[in-house]
Order: sequence, then structure tokens, then C-alpha cells
Amino acid sequence: MEDIYIRGIKLPHTVKGVVVVDENGDYNIYINNLLNYEMQLKTAEHEIKHIKLNHFYNYDPVIYNEIEASI
Ligand SMILES: [Zn+2]
Repeated sequence: MEDIYIRGIKLPHTVKGVVVVDENGDYNIYINNLLNYEMQLKTAEHEIKHIKLNHFYNYDPVIYNEIEASI
């Protein structure tokens, strides 16, 4: 529980990455492997920040969470 798995998959060009919380409470980060290596690392760090800041369990507006994860 609360483990983090990171995988590269092909996503639409406009999507850098997504996080899915599964039924075990684990976090599955999917990184768009169309991005270059450096951008994939940056995206992974960004998504991990969302997890560490507990953004999946609050009701703040998405834009607020995006700003917080970008700082
Ligand atoms: Zn984000």
C-alpha cells in the first residue's frame, strides 16, 4: 500500500503523465514515452510531488494543486 510504480506508455502528445490510485492504495504513474528522457524525468518528479503533497485526497481545485506541485 502506498507504493509508487512508474511506467512509460504512449499517451496523447498533450499529456505528459498521469497518476492512477489503484484498489490497493498504490500509486501508478504513467509517463508519456513520446517525451524526451529529460522531460520524462521532470514529469515523474512532478507526479511524485502530487503524491507527496496528498493531492489525491483533497478537494482543492486542480489548478491550485498544479501550482503547488510546480513550486
Ligand atoms: Zn500536475
